[in-house]
Amino acid sequence: MLTDSFNRKIDYLRLSLTDRCNLRCVYCMPKDMTSFGPREEMLSDAEILKLLSCFAQLGISKIRITGGEPLVREGIVSLVREISGIRGIQDISLSTNGLLLDKMALDLTRAGLKRVNISLDSLNAEKFNQITRYGKLETVLSAIESALSAGLAPVKLNVVVARGMNDDEIADFVKLTKKNPLHVRFIELMPMGETGFFSKEKWVSMNEILQKAQPLEEMEKEDWPRGEGPARYFRRPGARGTIGVISALSCGFCSSCNRMRLSSQGVLVPCLDAAEGTDLKALLRSGTSSRELKEAILFTVQQKPERHHMLEKAAVNSSNPRQMCQIGG
Ligand code: SAM
Ligand code: SF4
Repeated sequence: MLTDSFNRKIDYLRLSLTDRCNLRCVYCMPKDMTSFGPREEMLSDAEILKLLSCFAQLGISKIRITGGEPLVREGIVSLVREISGIRGIQDISLSTNGLLLDKMALDLTRAGLKRVNISLDSLNAEKFNQITRYGKLETVLSAIESALSAGLAPVKLNVVVARGMNDDEIADFVKLTKKNPLHVRFIELMPMGETGFFSKEKWVSMNEILQKAQPLEEMEKEDWPRGEGPARYFRRPGARGTIGVISALSCGFCSSCNRMRLSSQGVLVPCLDAAEGTDLKALLRSGTSSRELKEAILFTVQQKPERHHMLEKAAVNSSNPRQMCQIGG
């Protein structure tokens, strides 16, 4: 079992397959974002598979594929198939904006994908387009249908809440869970990247989100939808789906954090808020053995801080310079 220096069990890796994206959500990427890493610096499929077997041998059993937008990466279906064949990997999930999911959901499921989180910040077509800058709401709604019919379960909807952006839609999202087996997760806005979007005024706390979502009853942990997210779960009485709240800032999930993050450029990052990481790609490309790669992974796990400092940054309207798309949210 892999544990860090605060005795937290580490069994979950968020794997960013690309820093590129077919959207430019206002809170995630600047409109004119072009400063992506060079393609030759991205991990190849073979490099990803080699690193993942090292992680699996150390005790990582759950992988979340993310990005940027992971579905823009060529060959993703066969990569998922290969990942699911790695001994020790028991669960593969995906975070996506859903734009390309409609046609890929069934192939991904057959390749070994178990569950999916789809980002959806508005149920109003015009507003959705404004938030994502290029997205079409109907494409994402149809991707949700395809994910459900392909048998991906649970299907979770990630909703980043920001004041003046979509805080007036909380009740509408809750209504979605009434008849559909959908799990809506409201995410507190985080001060990340160089979008200039974050401000204390736009930030909506978990408590306020929950107030707007009432009536809800809190669920026992054994009834929560499957997943690794640091959420608390609620249900509208009688509803088929659930409501989760991810409160990175107001209620810190650090004490139970079980995750590491591998960027598309091969840097292993111990915390969403960490400025430093270990360049596993450089080690890999200089011929480092699997044993030494595993030592480098173990070393980075031990660098995991006790907690993040985003709350302090948010208080002075400062952001972590790392882009969300580099480390996968
Ligand atoms: N492109 C995929 C997507 O949108 O789901 C995967 C990558 S995206 C970086 C992963 C998650 O991070 C998304 O749910 C997105 O809404 C969230 N995210 C991005 N920037 C954020 C921010 N500043 N605060 C909170 N969540 C953020
Ligand atoms: Fe792209 Fe996801 Fe960031 Fe939106 S949140 S810009 S879809 S990476």
